[in-house]
Amino acid sequence: MGAEPKLKPWRRLERKLGLVLPEPYIEILRRFPEYVRGMKDSSGRPLSEYALLESADAVVELNERVRQSGEWTPQGGPWPQKFLAIGEDMCGNYYAIDTARDGDQVFFFDHESGRWSLVAESVDAFADEQVRDEKAFQVLDSVTPAAAAFLATRLEHLPALERPSNCPRCGSSHVREIRYIEFSDGMLREEGDCVFGGYFVRRGQPDWKCAACEHEWYVDQDPKHAERVRALEAMIDDAYDTLVRE
Ligand SMILES: [Zn+2]
Repeated sequence: MGAEPKLKPWRRLERKLGLVLPEPYIEILRRFPEYVRGMKDSSGRPLSEYALLESADAVVELNERVRQSGEWTPQGGPWPQKFLAIGEDMCGNYYAIDTARDGDQVFFFDHESGRWSLVAESVDAFADEQVRDEKAFQVLDSVTPAAAAFLATRLEHLPALERPSNCPRCGSSHVREIRYIEFSDGMLREEGDCVFGGYFVRRGQPDWKCAACEHEWYVDQDPKHAERVRALEAMIDDAYDTLVRE
């Protein structure tokens, strides 16, 4: 009897915030990925409750909250209206989609620098990264010396990259390899021709660092780059399944 058809949650969201959401993000809200909902941090909280919000109401609440305060630029400016906050890291930093752009790239607001930076080329990639970062954290937390030794061996057998002979920016021939993830006690090992790049694994992360000008890059045409990232991702997934989940 003339009941108004109920608006889908993402349409309500668009109406409330006055933004048009990119289709891939609507898809996430429509069919929220089970592997994100199922991923809990070490305190038992699902990532879907903060890092990538599942509930459209929670997204509205988050966006209203960030729009009430300043400090969103190094000069203390307001929240950019076109940005849709989609999650936070619970340390005062936020993730957002720039709705004025094509696509669904995800940006990160770092409250210490007051700056925004691109963190993922799509919401799907962002979801993957959030889950894998959390897995990496928990693996590092629970790794035993024996498991660390095993994983260190696996790291040594990653697909080898072809070392560039020169820095593409300054031409120096002193090029260092950037290595990710470290399980031995040699954390932040920077001796020799390696530097430590951190515990997060990303497609497109730099493999090389110039010792002279500090330029960091990867060789897009080297198929080993993607192979290596995939191997690291698989290693984290396996280590999580064996060391944490069971
Ligand atoms: Zn250089």
